[in-house]
Amino acid sequence: MSDDLLARHRAVMPGWMPVYYGDDALEIVEGSGRRVRGADGRTYLDFFGGVLTNMIGYDIPEINEAVRKQLATGVVHTSTLYLIRQQVELAERIARVSGIPDARVFFTNSGSEANETALLMAANVRRSNQILAIKNSYHGRTFATMAVTGHRSWSSSSLSPLNVSWLASGDRLRGRMAGLSDGDILDAAVDDLREVLATVTAGDVAAMIAEPIQGVGGFVAGPDGLLGAYQKVLGEHGILLIADEVQTGWGRTGEHFWGYQAHGVVPDLITFAKGIGNGFALGGVAGRADVMNAVPAISFSTFGGNPLSMAAGTAVLDYLLDHDLQTNAARTGAILLDGLRELDLPTVGEVRGKGLMIGVEIVRPGTREPDPAATVRVFDECRAGGLLVGKGGLYGNVLRMGPPLTLTEDEAREGLAILTGALARVDAEAR
Ligand code: PLP
Repeated sequence: MSDDLLARHRAVMPGWMPVYYGDDALEIVEGSGRRVRGADGRTYLDFFGGVLTNMIGYDIPEINEAVRKQLATGVVHTSTLYLIRQQVELAERIARVSGIPDARVFFTNSGSEANETALLMAANVRRSNQILAIKNSYHGRTFATMAVTGHRSWSSSSLSPLNVSWLASGDRLRGRMAGLSDGDILDAAVDDLREVLATVTAGDVAAMIAEPIQGVGGFVAGPDGLLGAYQKVLGEHGILLIADEVQTGWGRTGEHFWGYQAHGVVPDLITFAKGIGNGFALGGVAGRADVMNAVPAISFSTFGGNPLSMAAGTAVLDYLLDHDLQTNAARTGAILLDGLRELDLPTVGEVRGKGLMIGVEIVRPGTREPDPAATVRVFDECRAGGLLVGKGGLYGNVLRMGPPLTLTEDEAREGLAILTGALARVDAEAR
């Protein structure tokens, strides 16, 4: 490190705050396009974009210009006391693209707050705090969102404000769905839901919250249609469906604008954050008017919908649509997925994903046993080769790639070569 920033970080930040690369932690000091420069003097191709946050990339002139223009007004108003034109305009546009008829939109600063708000509204409209969540999920770090996070290392409190019942994840490698065909997973998931409803709930469940593809959980996706299969049962009981699109939204999966669209459903509420701010604090909920209007007391967010975030979000949405980044995600994602699938290494348990949301499971050779230590070696080798990737999964054995959606084909090939080289070297060591 250039100075003692890591020591200072450790001295002043809470001990549980995660930092990649341990004693060799990285400070990023500059970014341009899909590349960042570290305080270590090296330039890296960024295949994680700050946990899928830098969706357009770094130093994008159109976004800079929009934010500068807003700054030039004196930034203007941050609260909900006066009308904020930028907020209304972005809300109108998100309502239109949400796919939910006559949607209402509420802005927050983060994904956690967005999910917290969605859960609050669902609980109010249904007058119940019973929620269905999926094992291996991640929904945030507030009290309620942690309660619906099915991942021990991220659920640091069992003192839940919600009454949560758990459903099996669609993981094809492990757990209840291991080894099943897609059709059998759909049937098993519906059976699981019916069983949970009949046994451990009191029959007045407010909502189910689900990620179309589990992000922090290691880019685990059940079969297409899974949320649709659930919704048929949920509909029989009036249970609302909240789709957490914090990672899967805005065209990242290549095939659809929202992750939920692969499931043949229209959720009652969708939550979003991360990419739409491209680094600015911006999240929110879009949903059915009757549900969104259900909070009985006036509720506001001082910073949610602030003009700077709105300016950034509007520029991001424009950029995304003008450059058809969804198609680019499909094209460049296919290069990565095809290249990784060609590898056929005994330590690679599964290559999975859609568009620019790609996970690689690292296992002990020829088994399904997770190998987190080998995963760290691949992860470190990638950095040594000039590539930043993510890590995750319930067992810490999934490499996660979620580059900016502006990734070029050449950059995809460049990153793929570094990644496959690292995987092959660690595989050779493991045998
Ligand atoms: N939901 C999902 C699917 C996420 O991946 C995350 C963050 O990683 C969140 C919610 C929480 O978002 P934030 O960290 O902005 O609060």
